[in-house]
Amino acid sequence: SKQASVGEPYWFEYSLLDEIHKRIEIEKKLPKALEHGEFELYFQPKGNISSTPSLAGLEVLLRWNDPDQGMVPPMEFIPVAEENGFIIRLGEWVLRESCRLAKRWQDEGYPKVTISVNVSAVQFRHPQFIDVVENALRDSGLEPGYLELEVTETMLNDPVVIKEKLERLRSQGIKISIDDFGTGYSSIHYLKTLPIDILKIDKSFVQETPLSEQDSTLLVSIIQLGKSFGLTVLAEGVESKSQLEFLAGSGCDLIQGYYYSRPLNRAAMEQMFKDSMNS
Ligand code: C2E
Ligand code: CA
Ligand code: CA
Ligand code: CA
Repeated sequence: SKQASVGEPYWFEYSLLDEIHKRIEIEKKLPKALEHGEFELYFQPKGNISSTPSLAGLEVLLRWNDPDQGMVPPMEFIPVAEENGFIIRLGEWVLRESCRLAKRWQDEGYPKVTISVNVSAVQFRHPQFIDVVENALRDSGLEPGYLELEVTETMLNDPVVIKEKLERLRSQGIKISIDDFGTGYSSIHYLKTLPIDILKIDKSFVQETPLSEQDSTLLVSIIQLGKSFGLTVLAEGVESKSQLEFLAGSGCDLIQGYYYSRPLNRAAMEQMFKDSMNS
């Protein structure tokens, strides 16, 4: 069986080949998937920290319903799309759809909350990125203050260009958050030099809290670091009540994670909006 041969050279080569075939398959399928409307936006709520969190915003998470394979997780197709450049088109689609839907929800009378869109490094580096964002906002009619862009630390390694771009976006009222904070290298340096609004602490720092004393101490330090720079601090991957309580007691502002809500499809998100208006 496959299990018994794990570690043997033959199985290793076989699995590597498999992996390559899969990537090539995905690469071929991406453009058609976009044309055929197989991509779908999911939304994960962000909550203001309290024992019963209130809706503070949403993060857009991309899903691909491949007719052959079913749901393909983003970690399987986004790296492929980044490698061959398709992420430029796909990312633009996500941005336009997100702004359009956010504006539509506002027009329908749902609570006005920020919508956060993940931006890949490849996308951010593209010379037309600012135009793409501006067009998405203009065409949708969404006020820039309701759009947040999530960038990762690892893409901030070109400080001068990055700073200029971030400043241009921010001067229009768009919010910038640093995603997966703590997993990159020069974290503290970036906090000092770049125009940022929100710090999203990576879920790896939250997972073992409060059971692990070391992780808990680290988490508190990161929260304090963010606060000392005047940033809004969000903790990702909050899965339990004890984590929520620990974070609330540590001065964290926002949470995101399965404890508050899993990523929701559009219908479920609209239901959550309605529930939040009735409570
Ligand atoms: P991310 O931006 O760090 O998003 C958070 C991921 O953690 C999401 O996975 C989310 O479903 C998951 N998550 C949320 N709450 C919890 C929790 O309580 N526990 C655990 N264990 N996980 C939780 P997802 O949706 O599979 O997305 C994975 C990554 O794919 C994202 O990481 C982001 O880097 C990327 N991604 C997703 N959508 C887009 C997009 O539209 N554009 C780009 N460029 N990247 C995207
Ligand atoms: Ca994110
Ligand atoms: Ca993250
Ligand atoms: Ca991540």
